[in-house]
Amino acid sequence: MRKQIIIANWKMNPRTAKETKNIFERIKNASKKYQRVEVVVTPPHIYLPLIKAGSRIKLGAQDIFFKDEGPFTGEISAGMLKDSGVSYVLIGHSERRELGETLETVRKKIYQAASKGFRAVLCVGEKEKNQEAFPVMVKEEIISALKGVPRRLASKTIIAYEPVWAISSHSGGKSDTPQNFFEMSIYIRRILLDIWGKNAALRIPIIYGGSVNSKNVKGFLDVKGASGVLVGKASLNPAEFIKILEIADKK
Ligand code: PEP
Repeated sequence: MRKQIIIANWKMNPRTAKETKNIFERIKNASKKYQRVEVVVTPPHIYLPLIKAGSRIKLGAQDIFFKDEGPFTGEISAGMLKDSGVSYVLIGHSERRELGETLETVRKKIYQAASKGFRAVLCVGEKEKNQEAFPVMVKEEIISALKGVPRRLASKTIIAYEPVWAISSHSGGKSDTPQNFFEMSIYIRRILLDIWGKNAALRIPIIYGGSVNSKNVKGFLDVKGASGVLVGKASLNPAEFIKILEIADKK
């Protein structure tokens, strides 16, 4: 049974350690009921030691640095993340790219995360809605991030398609459509096929992110070939996020 991958991206939230522990514990307790879902919570790095992964809930990080150790002020290494119980890493989120993260940095981070045994979640997405053609930007982001990453690491990779214009902070909560996600997931799989060949490409999970909530999640999970969702804002509301898990568990 392939589980639905449901990732909570908490971004720079919650405001306090107390709130972090409360929200996490509620999600962790609820997760025990759901066997068909891989639940991943990615808090800010500083909160990682406060919360513990469990058999039904995994910890993720919102970033990783591409060197193992040394004079890199403010950065966080693979070893530090491993030590904090992290098994997933988000890489190339549009909010980090907006802050100046380059294609080259994303590439190094994908390689570092996958080769150190994390599941590397490569976030890609076009900035503007374009109904005419498949976004070149998504193709460039994938090709550039996976350049030089050997096929044996394909099983460590997940692609999160997150059209930037559909992320709640840009869209006011209006998501993309499941139909567009379906078309994009085929497009993305073709790109993966050119890079790593058919067998690897068919196995890489592709998940959707952008204003997912309990009302629209079913549509995205029903998309053929899709493997889950990445949830930002709605994942900070435990009742809402638990509803999303419940729906995913019934898939
Ligand atoms: C995100 O930014 O990864 C995201 C999915 O955010 P939201 O769900 O708030 O659109």
